[in-house]
Amino acid sequence: MKSNEQVTVLKLPTPFPVGDVNCYLLQTAGENILIDSGPDTEEAWETLVRGLKQAGISPHEVTKLVLTHHHADHAGQAYRFNELGVPVYGHPRIRPYLEQEEAFLATGDEFLQRLAKSFGVPEEIRALLPSYSSALKWLGRGRLDHELHEGDAVTADGTYRVIELPGHASDQIGILGSSGILFAADHLLARVEPNPLLEQPQFEGDTQVKRPVLQYIESLKRLQGETVQIAYTGHGEPIRDVPTLIESRLLQRKARSTQMLKLIHPKISLFELAGIIYGKRLKKSFPLVMSEMKARLDYLVASGRIEVAKVDGVLRYTPLAEKGTADAIPE
Ligand SMILES: [Zn+2]
Repeated sequence: MKSNEQVTVLKLPTPFPVGDVNCYLLQTAGENILIDSGPDTEEAWETLVRGLKQAGISPHEVTKLVLTHHHADHAGQAYRFNELGVPVYGHPRIRPYLEQEEAFLATGDEFLQRLAKSFGVPEEIRALLPSYSSALKWLGRGRLDHELHEGDAVTADGTYRVIELPGHASDQIGILGSSGILFAADHLLARVEPNPLLEQPQFEGDTQVKRPVLQYIESLKRLQGETVQIAYTGHGEPIRDVPTLIESRLLQRKARSTQMLKLIHPKISLFELAGIIYGKRLKKSFPLVMSEMKARLDYLVASGRIEVAKVDGVLRYTPLAEKGTADAIPE
């Protein structure tokens, strides 16, 4: 880090099982760049204001707010900065989650129902699924002022740039400094493995949301090609040995999928398989479990270990005979 730069971590409470979220204040050459805003709760707002004050500024003195992805614990309070006239930056794919147009919420509900059906979730359980708008409870309705793409400068002097890291979310970005500081958000976490979460398509033929686990793996490999000295993460402590963590994340992904192989009998649905693996715990974190199961199955399909066919709207998975060419995908 250059000596005139200052990074302050702002740890905010969230209503989610993950616990606190880390926002960051990057102060450099007259700029006060806030990375993420926390969830939309009074408690998070008060904590954020207090943290900024300790760093010597008030919220309206933030020169830009950069959102790393659309999840409520990160983007929930962006609208407050809209109201203060602070420009809000993020990947273009974050826009519908901030703007929350009626049509997006309506297609979201249809998407959830269709998805659950394709997983083989019985009708009586599908009827209990939360609505799309209730999932956005802690994400205030706001506005994206400026779009950020791969390579775009985040600081005025261009020492920090955007690196697109889709997987955990399709709009996930990191911010990489020339000195090797990475704001990794939820792409890399020291203690937990981020789930590649399922999202509704944003347009006809949107391939970005099809198999998020494959994008997540690509984004991990992509980071292997960058020099990162320290990664500041969305939850928990920073990561100092990024290459080793990436290695273990790649191995974990592979292990989680292959361990499951022996449980896959011909034409099994995702829901049936989840029942075998999670049992009663399935109820507790249903949407997360669905995303995680889909990630494991997508991984196995992509590496040629199983095949998938849709029968009456339900995805059915069948093991394939072991071939020498297995594991074509992730290594
Ligand atoms: Zn997230």
